[in-house]
Amino acid sequence: MRTIGLIGGMSWESSAEYYRIINQRVRDQLGPLRSAQLLMYSVDFGPVEQAQHAGRWDDTALILEDAARRLQAGGADCVVLCTNTMHLVAPRIEAAVSIPFLHIADAAGAAAVEAGTLTVGLLGTAFTMEQDFLKSRLAAQGLTVLVPEADERQAVHRIIYEELCVGVISDASRQVYQRVIESLAARGAQAIILGCTEIGLLIKPEHSDLPLLDTTELHAQAAVAFALGD
Ligand code: GLU
Repeated sequence: MRTIGLIGGMSWESSAEYYRIINQRVRDQLGPLRSAQLLMYSVDFGPVEQAQHAGRWDDTALILEDAARRLQAGGADCVVLCTNTMHLVAPRIEAAVSIPFLHIADAAGAAAVEAGTLTVGLLGTAFTMEQDFLKSRLAAQGLTVLVPEADERQAVHRIIYEELCVGVISDASRQVYQRVIESLAARGAQAIILGCTEIGLLIKPEHSDLPLLDTTELHAQAAVAFALGD
């Protein structure tokens, strides 16, 4: 089995999900007492979040390049960055190591294409919904990507940082997300990409009329496929 290298902590609420999902999948595939070989380097999210909101992306890249190098030095065979937003600096992280970097948008895009849902709604932080780093990678896989309207994006972003990243799950916020999903459906979305690794803590398949493509699940699944050589 290959060793998975996870860069976590952004936030740890979702890193814990990666750890759980990866181990569950290895157990399902290999047997009850089997579990994943993995390393996680978990950063302090505080300085990363401050740099994000100040637009100091170079500072975030330095932190994550260092994390990736530590994983490689520790014996990891790949790097899995457990956040959509920080894929904004994915090229920097990829260049810092010689082991493969498993991009989160490749996992999500492949699942959308496989399901035949070529027009997708994208939920995530404002950085993910408004900048191009994830959308262009999805578009390159043949997908049309819709994002919520400006006021909806603001609400989705606020709930991620003020609630989901600090372990708060509320019915009121779930309803906000459900309304955003309904308006994306009305605009033609056939599926919703949960393009922030904490959204799956709030929105489960039963909360949405549209199919959900949860980046945490799909990215964790890609990590297991890599580890098991599928
Ligand atoms: N985990 C989130 C994401 O997938 C948001 C936190 C962050 O900015 O890294 O984008």
